[in-house]
Amino acid sequence: MSNILGVSAANNKEIYADAIVIGAGFAGLYAVYRLREAGLSVLGLEKAIGVGGVWYWNRYPGARCDIPSLEYSYSFSDELQQEWNWKERFAAQPEILEYLNHVADRFDLRPHYRFSTTVTSAAYDSATGLWTLQIEGGGQCRCKYLIPAVGSLSLPKAMNFPSIEEFAGPVYHTSHWPHQKVDFAGKRVAVVGTGSSGVQTITTIAKDVEKLYVLQRTPCFSVPARNCPADPVIDARIKSNYAALRNKARSTASGFAIDEATKPAHAFSEVERRAQMERCWAEGGLEFGGKIFSDLVVSEEANEIVAAFMRDKIAEVVKDPKTVELLTPRSYPVGSKRMCVDTGYYEVFNQDNVELVDISESSVEFTHNSVIADGRTLEVDAVVMATGFDAMTGPLLKMNISADGKSLADAWEYGAKTMLGVMVAGFPNMFLITGPGSPSVLSNVVLSIEQHVNWIMDLVSFMEQQGIASVATTVEEQEKWMGHVADLAEGTLFTRADSWYIGANVPGKPRVFMPYLGGVKTFAETCAAIRDAGYPNFNFQYANALSDRSVDA
Ligand code: FAD
Ligand code: NAP
Repeated sequence: MSNILGVSAANNKEIYADAIVIGAGFAGLYAVYRLREAGLSVLGLEKAIGVGGVWYWNRYPGARCDIPSLEYSYSFSDELQQEWNWKERFAAQPEILEYLNHVADRFDLRPHYRFSTTVTSAAYDSATGLWTLQIEGGGQCRCKYLIPAVGSLSLPKAMNFPSIEEFAGPVYHTSHWPHQKVDFAGKRVAVVGTGSSGVQTITTIAKDVEKLYVLQRTPCFSVPARNCPADPVIDARIKSNYAALRNKARSTASGFAIDEATKPAHAFSEVERRAQMERCWAEGGLEFGGKIFSDLVVSEEANEIVAAFMRDKIAEVVKDPKTVELLTPRSYPVGSKRMCVDTGYYEVFNQDNVELVDISESSVEFTHNSVIADGRTLEVDAVVMATGFDAMTGPLLKMNISADGKSLADAWEYGAKTMLGVMVAGFPNMFLITGPGSPSVLSNVVLSIEQHVNWIMDLVSFMEQQGIASVATTVEEQEKWMGHVADLAEGTLFTRADSWYIGANVPGKPRVFMPYLGGVKTFAETCAAIRDAGYPNFNFQYANALSDRSVDA
């Protein structure tokens, strides 16, 4: 089936590239670009028919980024960042997708890719020093370096609700939204889930639907986005010294160019604290959490002050007291699950056509024309699942990765283990991007992607210069790193929430806190120190068996 097989058959030779990158999102595109610029042959494989990754798949109404677009974008090319003009503070999905298509064309990346190509397995053989990838429908290709840039949030959770198959109407998942417009005008719709995707969908479709049932298991903490059209004067000022903004972002923990909080909550008087919270609330955006108090996610007391403030904000907006109570999060610390960022979320619950349904105590079931929730039978025409992802490990494990017969699934049976979130002991020449053990998902992810890829490229260039055939991290180094990741998490309130950061959203998944909490600045410094020290404790194999391979990428 695959175009790869076609190329292979036509040329009658094995498909080989020095590097294979799986994924054409922000990470894959940048990795392909850097590998090509380094003079390696590179093949990109992507399941979708086009580039974009998250922004290709998540076409649900209201989808947009929650980090200002001037920052949630590539910094590697000044020409690119100068020529691209964002329309809004937080770009909507179509604009981000357009941007990534522009990047693919501008840097001529598309010819490296085989689209509509799903990798079903990847196996490393230390005898040859090669990875062999199997493609869905048949076909295989080989490489020296494997870069699964498959994303942290690309595998939706299974929609295993009892009797869902009985529902006769359409069931959408936010992350696999149809390409054609879904018209909800005059329809009765149930949305399951009130995380970031749910909040954006609910807020947007509430305007159109005849009736909207919001099925909520756990209420979220949501901050107003304060989205607005781009201001050409501000943008011109930033572009006149874009490097300053990028450098500032890299010097923070979060990867946002903000003045991060330096003072704990108790360093403020009560009046000052209130003013600080109001100021950050008025500025809005996800950066709220980073700017407010330095001890937000480590001190229960500070956390409760902010949580109470945010709860009051809900009560100020929502009129019905029962709905206020249901929308008010009380079961986990603020910031320990990713905060949502909204435009009028709480206001929606004052609309006559919107109803909040509590599903915290009961299961959700379906008949051919209704959803049964909280003891009620609600007739609906369509269902939207905003139920999230098997995050961070799901897309990697789905790909059946193995090395010398040992599977990644076995290696991660009790939780993901990596060195720096990039390398896995026992899996040579495989480099993850934004993997578990890296700070990525707690940061401006594009900034983290660039940092990871740059570090990987330094390592690959080092190997190519030295004639090194393979590199692997050791179990000891990996244990040390994951111990450090766990120690950092233990000192915080993050472990108190059943979040996707800890795998708690997927039944049966090991409960291990996966992101690195030391921040992007410290992380980048740690990575750079390892590189500058000549990669101590890395296992390098010098016999280069691959040098006479032909190139067909
Ligand atoms: P992805 O964009 O997920 O790309 C991975 C690609 O790999 C996909 O195209 C997928 O089809 C492909 N793939 C996976 N498995 C296979 C396989 N086996 N074979 C072939 N191809 C495969 N982060 C932020 O910092 N700020 C934001 O505002 C923000 N908003 C987000 C909004 C949504 C709706 C979601 C879901 C995530 C958001 N994120 C945000 C996080 C987001 O994951 C990253 O910002 C970034 O887009 C990830 O890029 P990526 O290239 O690593 O992965
Ligand atoms: P999510 O944060 O995991 O939220 C999933 C929601 O579905 C939660 O409310 C969850 O409830 C509910 N849910 C899951 N399984 C359920 C079940 N079986 N029964 C009932 N309810 C269920 O997923 P998401 O909203 O897709 O967001 C994932 C991440 O993607 C975000 O954290 C963020 O990093 C990124 N994202 C960002 C943006 C943005 O604004 N830029 C937008 C979308 C996504 P519980 O909490 O009870 O589990």
